[in-house]
Amino acid sequence: MAKKKKYVYFFGDGKAEGSADMKDLLGGKGANIAEMTNLGIPVPAGFTITTEVCTYFQKTGGKYPPGLKKDVAAALKKVEKVMGAKFGDAKNPLLVSVRSGARISMPGMMDTVLNIGLNDKTIQGLIEKTQNERFAYDAYRRFVNMYGDVVLGVRPRTEKEHDPFEEILEKKKKARGVTLDTELTAEDLKELVAEFKALIKKRLGRPFPEDPMEQLWGGIGAVFASWNIPRAVSYRQIHGIPEEWGTAVNVQAMVFGNMGEDSATGVAFTRDPATGENYFYGEYLTNAQGEDVVAGIRTPQPINRAKKVPKGMKTLEDEMPKIYKQLATIRKKLEKHYRDMQDIEFTIQQGRLWMLQTRTGKRTAAAAVKIAVDMVKERLITKKEAVMRVEPEQIDQLLHPMLDPKASKKLLTKGLPASPGAAVGQVVFTAEEAEAWAKDGKKVILVRVETSPDDIRGMNAAEGILTTRGGMTSHAAVVARGMGKCCVAGAGDMAVNYKKGFFKVGKVTVKQGDWISMDGSKGEVYLGQVPKVVPQLTGEFATFMKWVDEFRTLGVRTNADTPHDAGVARAFGAEGIGLCRTEHMFFEGKRIDAVREMILAEDVAGRKKALAKILPMQREDFVGIFKAMDGLPVTIRTLDPPLHEFLPHTDKEIRELAKDMGVKPSVLKAKVASLAEANPMLGHRGCRLGIAYPEITEMQARAIFEAACKVAKMGKRVHPEVMIPLVGHVNELKLQKEIVVKTAEEVMKAQGVKIKYLVGTMIELPRAALTADQIASEAQFFSFGTNDLTQTTFGLSRDDAGKFLPFYVAEGILPHDPFVTIDEQGVGKLVEMGVTLGRQTRPDLKVGICGEHGGDPASVRFCHKVGLNYVSCSPYRVPIARLAAAQAALADQPAAKPKKKASPAKKKTAKKKSK
Ligand code: ADP
Ligand code: MG
Ligand code: MG
Repeated sequence: MAKKKKYVYFFGDGKAEGSADMKDLLGGKGANIAEMTNLGIPVPAGFTITTEVCTYFQKTGGKYPPGLKKDVAAALKKVEKVMGAKFGDAKNPLLVSVRSGARISMPGMMDTVLNIGLNDKTIQGLIEKTQNERFAYDAYRRFVNMYGDVVLGVRPRTEKEHDPFEEILEKKKKARGVTLDTELTAEDLKELVAEFKALIKKRLGRPFPEDPMEQLWGGIGAVFASWNIPRAVSYRQIHGIPEEWGTAVNVQAMVFGNMGEDSATGVAFTRDPATGENYFYGEYLTNAQGEDVVAGIRTPQPINRAKKVPKGMKTLEDEMPKIYKQLATIRKKLEKHYRDMQDIEFTIQQGRLWMLQTRTGKRTAAAAVKIAVDMVKERLITKKEAVMRVEPEQIDQLLHPMLDPKASKKLLTKGLPASPGAAVGQVVFTAEEAEAWAKDGKKVILVRVETSPDDIRGMNAAEGILTTRGGMTSHAAVVARGMGKCCVAGAGDMAVNYKKGFFKVGKVTVKQGDWISMDGSKGEVYLGQVPKVVPQLTGEFATFMKWVDEFRTLGVRTNADTPHDAGVARAFGAEGIGLCRTEHMFFEGKRIDAVREMILAEDVAGRKKALAKILPMQREDFVGIFKAMDGLPVTIRTLDPPLHEFLPHTDKEIRELAKDMGVKPSVLKAKVASLAEANPMLGHRGCRLGIAYPEITEMQARAIFEAACKVAKMGKRVHPEVMIPLVGHVNELKLQKEIVVKTAEEVMKAQGVKIKYLVGTMIELPRAALTADQIASEAQFFSFGTNDLTQTTFGLSRDDAGKFLPFYVAEGILPHDPFVTIDEQGVGKLVEMGVTLGRQTRPDLKVGICGEHGGDPASVRFCHKVGLNYVSCSPYRVPIARLAAAQAALADQPAAKPKKKASPAKKKTAKKKSK
């Protein structure tokens, strides 16, 4: 016969049946309590009822597996023996807590009941034992209150009602003329117990349970049931925690931090969770019980003087030096054992220290990096472990200036956290105003219903962008992320009135010129000016990123259109430019006029005349970029967007341009109208422009190679890679390549300089991926343009997807937004096919990706897996991509057992760089 399942695990007196690796069964709290017990750390004795019982309980509508009652009774006997007290005994009562604890911590979501076992008989024993009547009645009234609330459900019945126990307490204090709970006498507290019980009886029609066993099972049932209360259910949904995990229940002997001045309770972190500094950080309260520290009734005191302490304030180290020393030793022991920063709970009862909880502590990005680096230096962990411990998304926090977390703020509204960072500025409603105000040295926030490509310059001039419509991949969001600029998108509570120049949120009106502040990581908007702080990129961050690069095999480049962006990206470790969009250069200053002239010209001669004006400007841009990248490869894409994006739209603009060009406004207007397309994203764009107007490609090639020669003559190395967009058929590439090569040879001959260069293409149409073997006969490199490839594979327009895509994701029709994380099964299959076919023709074909996906950690992992040479992403995401790439490479390696003494990795991993 199979052995009966074990449902109850005992811990106490230095021995536990469970251990830290049994979190699935015992929950995080129970497993770690067992582990601490086995380490010889003082933990009040108790037992854990497994998560399997919770599953059983949920399935059977509140029943327990056969034999559980007997097992609990047996475990309770053991606890009594260790603690030298008896549950329900009138002379020497044992009290217990019933604590929830799932596999991973769900802070504050489920219930815990303290002081179980108190009744009108055992209270006498407690008084006798402690010689402290006030303490005993204080524990009793807390118990009846907590039990009444959590187990018996005596709570406010409507939203307007106050907490009924709180009301009685307030009344009592008023009657006694005191303000603090601590000022109530034993007699007052005794009365409260009776009044609380009366309230419960009135509400339930039956008396408060006096039988300790009934109390215990009531508590156990309530904790199991709390797995399914609405807030716990929503928390699980948000964090993707499976329904069937269940919670464990920990029944543990009570220890009291509220038994006088030699008692205390506190919480601590083994290192500073905000900065990561290696000192013991914590807070405590003397003469208080567990929850009091968190509840903030009294200001807690720091445990030591590692950091400045307010004048006159005592620390635990001052007040109880021996206990502090013991606690500090436990801190060392826990860190050494868990090899990570721990978050602990402790209670001191009459000069004796008890540990109640330990778990891996949550931390900021700065702390995560510092702790990981420090722990390698302390030989607690290996470099590999350090690199695996920091979340790529998390380090985003370290790269942008942020609002001072200590400043007081007035929340105005919330939207989507579209682009991280902070912005403080005056509200403007148009891109032109943004530019004009910025020119006057003002800081502005551009507020729009949504943005369009016309707004680029205004967005660039603004500190931040706030929109009322659009999602995480809206124009505003994508462009802002690319610029590394703070953006809050889709703040739907705002009503914008462009005409009158204000917006409203509820009753609050914000006018043009008013100051607001935004936190792009939280999606929050505040009234007024919130001070900013520059996050410190400390030495540890640099060290950490150096290690990251030791493990990484995937190259990381950047998408940059200006020398400034190129410089930022290099500082963040970019190894080249993977995408330089030449059209962004067309918007600068007066250039747009020449561009418009070129587009609207009647013939080749007219176009060439306009192009001649653009050539020197574009050449100087390339010179700046080549200089900034100093020998690193620079991939430059020829003109890509549909031409109408550059055209004037208002009558005024048309009149002015007509004057400049010496044509009639009506003629110009007709030309503008003729360029309109029903479906511009699938229209006359990409290489189709260069095929219709070869002189555009020729001018761009000339600008690139003249710039390259110029920089080469300055003694710098240059590696231009010319990239032809939106190729669907190899012949398109062939035609464009001929122009580029011919121009390059001409320029180099004229300049007397030889430059190594490549001509390649973007793979952003399904047909290109499907015929990649043919395309590779012409292309010297591929770059997957996964933004367009996603649009064309799904057949959906990103600009219009905001109306239905969020619904698809919310309903689980799609697992995630395919514009954020690459759709591995569909789009990814085309990428994989493109790589394989391309390398069949050209084994040394260099392959990269330059869509938004290049900066998304999950997509970077995919790129590593399918053997790309590099990813390219916006400058501010370069470090994130580097870390994601390193983690992908490490995940490939066979898992190494952590050695006792971790030795920092010496060997440099061979690198396949993108050169
Ligand atoms: P949470 O998971 O919400 O922190 P806990 O189970 O840790 O809930 O308990 C809430 C509070 O009660 C904590 O401050 C904890 O230290 C305290 N506590 C729990 N069990 C005991 C006990 N046996 N003796 C003393 N304090 C306890
Ligand atoms: Mg806790
Ligand atoms: Mg494209």
